Amino acid sequence: MEEFLKHFKDHSRAEQRWLSAVFEAVKQQLHPLIDASLGLSVARLSLAVVSKVQTAVGSDATDLPVSYRFVSLSELIRDQRSACCSSLSWSSAHYREQAKGAEQKLPGYKALPRDNLLLIGFLCDGQATGTSDGVWRVRDAGGSVACVMLKSSCLWLGRLMLFPSWNYIPHNAPAAGYLELLEPPLCVILETMAFDPGGALSEIMSVTQAAELLRQRCEDQVYVSVSGQVSVVCPLLVIRGKRFFCLILSEGASSVSVFIKEAKHQYWRQCVCVGQSVWISSLRVCSLQGLEGRRVLTDSCQSRLHPHLQLQDNSEDPDTHTDSLTADSRTADTHLCSAAASGSGPAARVKRSTLISFKGMVTKILNAEAGLYEIDGQVGLCLAYQPAQKWGGGLRPGAEIQLHNVHFMYRASPFAPHVVLCACLRSSLQITAFSCLSSKVEVSGSHGPLQCLLLEKNLGASQYLWLCYCQNAVTERLCPRWVRAERVCVVAERLLDFVCGTERKTQKKRDIYREMIQEPHQCPVTTFCVWWPSAALWSVRQLSDWMRREVWASLSLASLLPPSAAHMTAVELNAALSWSVHEVPLTDVSPEPLLLVGVLELDSTRATLQLRDQTHALDCLCVTTHQSGTRNTHLNTAWQGCLVCVRRCTLVMERFMKTHFPSWKHLDQPSYITHKHFRLYLQLCVDDLTIISPSAAMSHHLMDDRHTDREKPRKATESAKRPRADEAADAPASKRPLTSPPCVSLLLRLESKQGVTLQNSSTDAPILQPGFVCRAACLGDVQLWKEDPKNHRTQERERHGDGQKIELHFMGSCVRWFPVLHPGCVYRIIARNTEDVSVLKAKGVSPRGGVTQLSSPTLLLQPQWRIHLITEELPDAQSGVPALMSVSEVLHSSSAPEIVCFYGVITKRITLQEDNGTNAKIQSLTTAKDESIEQDLQVRLTIQDAECPGHVIDVYLDLSCGPYTIGLIAGAAVSICHLQRRVSKACNVYCRSLPISCVSVTDLTSVRSRSVTPSPPPMMLLGEWASGRVQRCVLAQVKGHVVCVLSLRLQWTCSLCGSIFRQTSCGRTHPPCDSTSAVFQAEAKVVVEDGSAESQVWFSSDTVCDLLMLNGSQWEGLQRHVKVKGHVKVYTRGRNMMSDEDPGDALVQYLNCLCSSSAVCRPIHLTCRLRAQRTGKSQLRKVHRGQTEFICKFTPALQLHCQHIHKH
Ligand SMILES: [Zn+2]
Ligand SMILES: [Zn+2]
Repeated sequence: MEEFLKHFKDHSRAEQRWLSAVFEAVKQQLHPLIDASLGLSVARLSLAVVSKVQTAVGSDATDLPVSYRFVSLSELIRDQRSACCSSLSWSSAHYREQAKGAEQKLPGYKALPRDNLLLIGFLCDGQATGTSDGVWRVRDAGGSVACVMLKSSCLWLGRLMLFPSWNYIPHNAPAAGYLELLEPPLCVILETMAFDPGGALSEIMSVTQAAELLRQRCEDQVYVSVSGQVSVVCPLLVIRGKRFFCLILSEGASSVSVFIKEAKHQYWRQCVCVGQSVWISSLRVCSLQGLEGRRVLTDSCQSRLHPHLQLQDNSEDPDTHTDSLTADSRTADTHLCSAAASGSGPAARVKRSTLISFKGMVTKILNAEAGLYEIDGQVGLCLAYQPAQKWGGGLRPGAEIQLHNVHFMYRASPFAPHVVLCACLRSSLQITAFSCLSSKVEVSGSHGPLQCLLLEKNLGASQYLWLCYCQNAVTERLCPRWVRAERVCVVAERLLDFVCGTERKTQKKRDIYREMIQEPHQCPVTTFCVWWPSAALWSVRQLSDWMRREVWASLSLASLLPPSAAHMTAVELNAALSWSVHEVPLTDVSPEPLLLVGVLELDSTRATLQLRDQTHALDCLCVTTHQSGTRNTHLNTAWQGCLVCVRRCTLVMERFMKTHFPSWKHLDQPSYITHKHFRLYLQLCVDDLTIISPSAAMSHHLMDDRHTDREKPRKATESAKRPRADEAADAPASKRPLTSPPCVSLLLRLESKQGVTLQNSSTDAPILQPGFVCRAACLGDVQLWKEDPKNHRTQERERHGDGQKIELHFMGSCVRWFPVLHPGCVYRIIARNTEDVSVLKAKGVSPRGGVTQLSSPTLLLQPQWRIHLITEELPDAQSGVPALMSVSEVLHSSSAPEIVCFYGVITKRITLQEDNGTNAKIQSLTTAKDESIEQDLQVRLTIQDAECPGHVIDVYLDLSCGPYTIGLIAGAAVSICHLQRRVSKACNVYCRSLPISCVSVTDLTSVRSRSVTPSPPPMMLLGEWASGRVQRCVLAQVKGHVVCVLSLRLQWTCSLCGSIFRQTSCGRTHPPCDSTSAVFQAEAKVVVEDGSAESQVWFSSDTVCDLLMLNGSQWEGLQRHVKVKGHVKVYTRGRNMMSDEDPGDALVQYLNCLCSSSAVCRPIHLTCRLRAQRTGKSQLRKVHRGQTEFICKFTPALQLHCQHIHKH
């Protein structure tokens, strides 16, 4: 120490202290590693260190950088937990300026903090520590740290170095940090360099000569030295535990491939870069078995790598592209390959990528695990086709990089930047400046699951980019609630399979040697699909937000109104506007194909099926297709819990508005809309669902389907024991019990289902909650199971019992089962974690005071119980479900019961006016939460017979007594149970809902076809229609002749109160009405005959104009004339038409002429509806023909209402 310190006698005490510390560190960390043969003392070594430090600082040679602390590598690894940088040569001002510049370039990142540390150590290639992985390391007596350099020289290996500037990036794993050397290291001790050419000195060959040599059949044992320019540097590969890399030397048109296989030469990978000239000695010729014996050069033990004399240091290769990338200039060399994409997608265009070099700055890590980066804020970089680089290879945001031989792709995927550079085994990536910004380093040296999949499936670049996009989406939306993190990739892969369908081109297996050295170059990314797969995955929230915007954006008030809108009073008009529906097929939402991925679950507050992900949930109306012969027409319970992908569905937006428009003329003034809300849901068909990950019950159901024919009793239990790959694995691990607990079950057949209503939950707590009741017949007694039988095939013992009828009560959260319970189906109810068979025993109401109740024993469902649909055919059980009636049966059957169940198709829905508070409003729990809930919603549905379109019935429904029923829109096929059948005073049959009524949508027009037009009513002869011999149609088409106009009434009506409106004021006086708006209304009664009979047909406002054959201006002129008196009525008296008020009036005269003109009395084609379904008895009347008197039986004239005049 003294010997050392005497050199610095005149330095200050602080400097002396610093010098002693350096001496101590050199003694401990560096001197033990110095070759003893050099005879170097600690003092001399310390002196050399100090002098190097002074050189590096670059200031006055006498100054010592006392602010810098010597750091040993073990200390660095142990104590440095955050990234930092250190530089001897930077002034503080220089550091600040550089940090500021970098932060400005990439806002959002902070510069690495500066630490004044002195780092000295030996550079080695890992052989010293036993790992020849091609990674350089800095080593001292205490430890070693990996390092990366911008440019390195073979001459540095094994030398004691001072590192003037470096970044230290710690890693989340212990002892896994690494150094980025910003400036070349400085040699501390200058050793005499012995020239070692490596092996026997031979003449240096040019590349052209070497290529010629390889072509000749020469002996393999020739050693050659070759000099040339490096044109390709391939990444380090490990094949069967052996590490190697390949580089290609070129000269003019010729090139030779050199494989570097010796473990001790692997560090050369960091010493060579594209464009550099080198010579390599002692190379052997050998042939590659993998490549049809193609001959290449390979290194030998004695080989040496020498940099060429003129090192091309700062020159840039001419073909390096900088930021100014114009994308369209690189789209040459295109060839199309027509390949039809599966399903709806457009054909995938296949394009050839171009090999380029590129220089830029990493601006973002898009997905480190997938090897995706962003360069210069706009270009994507995909490194997935290369072996994974340790620590992401220094690719931190802010790092400047140079790429050689990367594939340029334009529009490879809509989910990646327009331009993606894809590196393959021939590409090299070189960092030209390390980032001085701080960022997280996540990647270790091994492949992530995405890259494993890439290798396994041989994916093309476009598919890989889509897979990465999909993996992100699944992680974000389904993990961890439904998909475990380690299963995300499996789910993403299935989605990729689904999206690509059969089109997934399995590329040829990768041949790494071919990929690296063959000309012309061929690899998995030489071609790519343009913009394909383009299917976007929307989250449920995204879709729901789109629907929220669309629901009002698509609203056009005028389009909601019928053609008769101009004749509607305010009450009629506002009623017509109060509800409307907007349907959009999913395929129309965006020009690119759209997919929804979510889990189907049952919702307990709405009693609906929902499609859910972690962002949101949407109600679904799900139907199964009717296929005659199959029993499977109902939604299976097994669907709940399935992870599905939806490609086709209809988005339904129901709008509710409270409006106060005085008349149709005010529709452009939105201020008359006082309240609006909406309901959103999806209509889908199970055939359009693709199961990505089935529920346990579903996978069993599918398996059972396959084995239906040759089933054995043991099969079910066996398959239950076998762990299924999907459900069990995708569900969160915590949910899976190790051993399955015992449970009890009950097999029953559902006979009827009532609607969900709000009910008192119990006697002691008067809280209303939703609930419903089903009736069922037990097929056997309660059974005990060792493990949950779920929906497995039934066992003999389950079907032994007395067939007891019971009532099932579903209350509170149990109403979630509502959408999956269907009368006629067999279910197994399971109570888990119990061996007590009495829990599933229905309890009869005990007779009280000698009175026995008629109701069946009841079973109150518990929330934790499960219900499974059993799809197998059961031999002995007969269904006790009465068949549903058709609409015409309900209309015409003389023996129709008072309570009916029938099916039909909705053709029209009208919201009825609220009766003002006659019903006590039920405040439910749900209304408290949801302000938009409809109160007192009464609707009238017109339901058409599914087979005979001429039969329609009106059904009055009260939708306010339970959760809102979705799907009641025109075109939906419904089955309605427990309705009250009634006959009006006019003898018309209609139905009213009861609290127990239950409406279920069984089919959707939107699913069957896109058009909503119902089939036209049948053509009828009036005589036939009137006779009532056949079941009388309600709607029919008639072709006949207008005999005469019996009456015609024209009137201006006050749109608010309905009184006659004269000129500009309402005629009502008690109390006076100050309305200023009126609508014109007209009614005509006409005799029409068609040869078989005649009938009276009523025409109302909008059809009167057509009946009278008036054009627009004539019709308006007529209206003006009527306005004077407010109304006019003419009727037939004998041959003429007359009016009670003023027979001489010109208007009356005109109407008289008009009505008897041949323009009105003409052949006509009408669609009519019966005014009254039952007419009175036939009458006998005397008829005179000349002298003869006849007594004829007249059926009373048919009374019809014209709905439409067909114009030909
Ligand atoms: Zn390639
Ligand atoms: Zn009025």
